[in-house]
Amino acid sequence: MSTETIFSKIIRHEMTADIVYQDILVTAFRDISPCAPTHILIVPNILIPTLNNVYPSHEALLGRMITTAVKIAKDEGIAEDGYRLVFNCNKNGGQEISHIHLHLLGGMPLGPI
Ligand code: AMP
Repeated sequence: MSTETIFSKIIRHEMTADIVYQDILVTAFRDISPCAPTHILIVPNILIPTLNNVYPSHEALLGRMITTAVKIAKDEGIAEDGYRLVFNCNKNGGQEISHIHLHLLGGMPLGPI
């Protein structure tokens, strides 16, 4: 059984966060410790612990995460200059919160990966 994280509480508005977008599938909020002028996390409203738990039935949801990131990038005014989308997976990938999240980073040159 998967264990909920603070992200589930943010999705349910039980914990304060700077939510910039929410719909029936996804929630997006500003990272509490930003690595760039724009650093927003896009998360599915259902708990999927890691990318290793993503299945074909999630494909529409994963697509919504990306289209949401693009919409927010445009809203934030960073789309034209460019941005980076990142998923971390497990220990070696640097994943700290076991609820998949797409990092939207931009607002400055990010350099090579
Ligand atoms: P990751 O290392 O990929 O698991 O990323 C987790 C991200 O969640 C980090 O960038 C944290 O700064 C961010 N984070 C942790 N707690 C919160 C919170 N309460 N609100 C917003 N972002 C958070």
